[in-house]
Amino acid sequence: MLRSRPVSEKKDTYHILTYGCQMNERDTESLAGFLQQMGYTASTPEEARILLINTCCVRESAERKILGKLGELRKYKLVRPEVVIGIGGCMVQQPGMSERIRKEYPYVDIVFGTHNLHQLPRMLEQCQFGQVVEVWDSEGEVTENLPERKAEGIKAHVTIMYGCNNFCSYCIVPHVRGRERSRAPEDVIREVQSLVAQGVKEVTLLGQNVNAYGKDLNRQVSFADLLRIVNQVEGLKRIRFTTSHPKDFSLELIAAMAELDKVCEQIHLPVQAGSNRILAAMNRGYSREQYMELIGQIRRAMPDVVLTTDLIVGFPGETEEDFADTLDLIEKVRYDNAFTFLYSKRSGTPAAEFAEQVDAEIKKARFQRLLQLQNRISLEHNQAIIGSVQEVLVEGRSKTNKELMTGRTRGNKIVVFAGADYQVGEIVSVRIDEARTWTLLGTMVSK
Ligand code: SF4
Repeated sequence: MLRSRPVSEKKDTYHILTYGCQMNERDTESLAGFLQQMGYTASTPEEARILLINTCCVRESAERKILGKLGELRKYKLVRPEVVIGIGGCMVQQPGMSERIRKEYPYVDIVFGTHNLHQLPRMLEQCQFGQVVEVWDSEGEVTENLPERKAEGIKAHVTIMYGCNNFCSYCIVPHVRGRERSRAPEDVIREVQSLVAQGVKEVTLLGQNVNAYGKDLNRQVSFADLLRIVNQVEGLKRIRFTTSHPKDFSLELIAAMAELDKVCEQIHLPVQAGSNRILAAMNRGYSREQYMELIGQIRRAMPDVVLTTDLIVGFPGETEEDFADTLDLIEKVRYDNAFTFLYSKRSGTPAAEFAEQVDAEIKKARFQRLLQLQNRISLEHNQAIIGSVQEVLVEGRSKTNKELMTGRTRGNKIVVFAGADYQVGEIVSVRIDEARTWTLLGTMVSK
């Protein structure tokens, strides 16, 4: 079907709706970068000529929401036929999805996957002549010709690798993001240097499993090596990373973290469950004992480390005993914080087919118990540092009280504090006066 479009008199504008994780946020920045290179500027959905949805499919509920949104976008096209609608990302990468969109949403101009978003400029040209549906099955090489990033603020995420090789039984990510591919260290450094030149003080290195960084490169470079190189970037003050897989967290990495001044002593180390039976069913690749051993090694090297985790409650087959193992592990590790999810079926993953799905009411009740326990421990951790002086990176004014400032400790805890003579992006010393479950309150004592 050939469709010609009236040329808009107005300046060309775009709007991107993003669903999902930090990796998706980062992909959206690249899409926005391409559009800006082409002369487009950001706008509202009501005014934009290009409307893109960058999708996520980790939860099935997100999929329904996104398709509902895609339906809604049609109204813009009805009143402004020149509007271009595109949809891309993880959800589109699933088998049969692009075909479904093509048939059920014929007004959509561009359909693309996770592996070919760098081809957006060409697809935009091409869609003047008809619908473009291009979803690559395999990932190909890492693309480095992405637009130069515009830094916003003092913190930025930098993708160091794509994809995942782990195939946890509940997770769709390896099916839609492909296998692990690491960026070359020099490309990572170039991006970090460019961000720092624009005022960024803290970078978070990003990947589904950052500890596997470098394993796919034809050279001897590990994630610990990469941290050592990034640590040398002048002007950069802090380095964080996420996400870590416990089975790939090496002693070399622990040593590098303890030694490097810019690498913050904070680790997000998803455990998901405390029962060996459930960990095996999840295909996580470690036992409870191995995980606890790793925690011991980390704490011996960095006694003040801040540890956070992800937990799934109600995984198929989870008994009361398995759940008690999870509670026990939380008591033993004493995380500073935990991100807790109720298990929900994700079609296309092995766990969705497991016979013993846990009753929704049981899941909710366990979720509440877990939350109560973790909240108590989080508060105890925060109370334990009352009176201490923390190094805080100033981020700006507090949202709730403009008289106060806010920033984060090296452990990534939010601190709201009073004081004067500071600037956003500076590191200051703050004495902790009061602790709440999620926030610390303090007073600046020196720069
Ligand atoms: S490590 Fe497991 S949970 Fe994480 S992205 Fe890979 S498959 Fe998914």
